[in-house]
Parts: sequence; structure tokens; C-alpha cells
Amino acid sequence: MFVYLETQLQRILPRGEIEALDHNTIPRIQLPARDSVFATRAARLRQLAVDSPVADYLLLMARLVDAQHHALRGCNAPPASEDRIALAQAHGMPPLQAVGWPRDPLWRDILRQLVDEVAGGQDVPAEALEVCAALRRALDEDTESLEDLAEAVLSEQHRGVDGAAAPFVMAALQVYWTDLASRFDEKQLPVASPFGVCPVCASLPVASVVRVGGQFEGYRYLCCSLCATQWHMVRVKCSHCEDVESVAYQAIEGRAPAIKAETCDRCHTYRKIFYQDKDLHVEPVADDLASLMLDVLVGEAGYSRASGNPLLWHGAEEE
Ligand SMILES: [Zn+2]
Ligand SMILES: [Zn+2]
Repeated sequence: MFVYLETQLQRILPRGEIEALDHNTIPRIQLPARDSVFATRAARLRQLAVDSPVADYLLLMARLVDAQHHALRGCNAPPASEDRIALAQAHGMPPLQAVGWPRDPLWRDILRQLVDEVAGGQDVPAEALEVCAALRRALDEDTESLEDLAEAVLSEQHRGVDGAAAPFVMAALQVYWTDLASRFDEKQLPVASPFGVCPVCASLPVASVVRVGGQFEGYRYLCCSLCATQWHMVRVKCSHCEDVESVAYQAIEGRAPAIKAETCDRCHTYRKIFYQDKDLHVEPVADDLASLMLDVLVGEAGYSRASGNPLLWHGAEEE
């Protein structure tokens, strides 16, 4: 197994096409499709589990994502107030900023629904049942600790976070924010957004995808780890520090040509980038989770992840 460096910058389009391109036609964002976002992810997790060394975990997460799909159907979280949207527009800030958001307790009902569905399945691993039981107890008796845990995972604070419970809490918050984002009116977004975070909810991207098809053809989109919004970003640019000189691409030779790590020698971080023209079915959260071998190799080469995967808490052992 080799890691190779692709040092030559990739051309986005042939020269003539760049000049002819009307940049206003690039869709800036794509809000999540509530009827398919989680169903697609669950199906992809199951597909990737077929020949994965971490198949058991992928299959457990597929059950959780199935439950997210069911929970989102009936979800109707209180949307942003007009004042909040006006404030976001005035300051160029994401209108549904997750950290510090006045979350409705509804998110805990979603969590209960997820935990009940996962624990009620067939042949659930004993460890997962224990996590579900502990979360149920917290839902009944200690909602304050759950609110603290929610705030910690939203702000990627790792200290004191229960790594086994975090993916479930994150999953409930994803349903809540995917619901909000899917019903958000794109025209209400501020004209400009801060670099590197979701323009809708201000969370970090999990990975990026170079897309195929229609108006998205050949463009790279960053994928929000929380609300599943995708937003456009030019290719060959560090998604963490905006550097364009020090970006390189690493992959595992002979395997999964649709997956590379976009590394940066300026900030020494990386995020994965997926290529739909090599595999039409890449799904940012699922494919990132299933390609842990690439994380190991890139980590050994001295790069750290720019942000985590919502279904795997990376921070637990770092403290
Ligand atoms: Zn978002
Ligand atoms: Zn960088």
C-alpha cells in the first residue's frame, strides 16, 4: 500500500471554458433534501460495510441514520425569528448558527426516538444497548447534562465528552438542524458568509465532494457536518486556512480512486475530498467514516484532521 502525492494542481476547466464561464451560475449552496438525505446515507453505510474492517460500526451507524430518517419526517422545529435573520444579514453571519442557539427541548424528543429505535432493533451489540440505556436515563433524570453535552459537541469541545454517547446526541441535533435547513428560504441568506463554516448553521464541514451533473458539474462543495447543507468552494484551496500554494492530494494507491485527502502544508491539516465522477454514490459522512485507513496514513504523515466526523467522536482520547 502506497501513499502518493499528487503535486500538480488540477485544472478546474480548460482555459477557454474558464473565460466563458459566468460565475453567477454556480449554485452557491444546496440545502438538504429532507426526504432523502438520511436514507441515502444509511444505504451508503450498508454498501461500504460489505468489505470494511469496521463493518460492525458502519452497520450500527446505518441503524442510527435509519432512525434519523424516520425522526425527520415528523420534525417541525421552531424556525429562526425575523429578528435573528435580520441580524444575520446585517452582520454577514449564518442565520441558524448552532452554537448558542435557543434549542427547543424537541431535540431531546428526537434523541429519545433515535435511542428507542436503535435499541429496539434485532441483534444490537451489547455496548450499543448500554449507551442507549444510559441516554434514556439521562433523558428521564438529567436533561441538564444532555444540554451540556449537546453544546459541547456543537462547539467541538472535547473535554468531558462521552465519546460513546456523542454520536447519538449529534445524530439528534443533525435531525433538528437538517429540519431547519431544509425549510430555510435561501433568499434570506446574507450575501457573504465567513470562510470555512456552513453559511446556514456555522458548523464545520465534514468533507468535500467534486460533483457531477447539471449545474453542479465539476464544482467542489463542502458538506456541513450538522445540517447537511452543501456550499460551493473553489478547488485546490485549503478548506481550513484558504492557502492555495501548499495544497496536495494523497490517496491509497490502487484503492478507492474516488477518495483523496486534501492536505495543507501551511496549517498541517487535511479534509477528505470525494470525486463523484469516480464513484457516483459517494456520500460525505458515510465515505469519510468508512475510509479510516486514509486517516491513519495521513496522520502518520503529520497532518491532523481539520474537523471530525459527526458519527465518530475523535476527541475522546486526545485529552
Ligand atoms: Zn450547516
Ligand atoms: Zn491550510
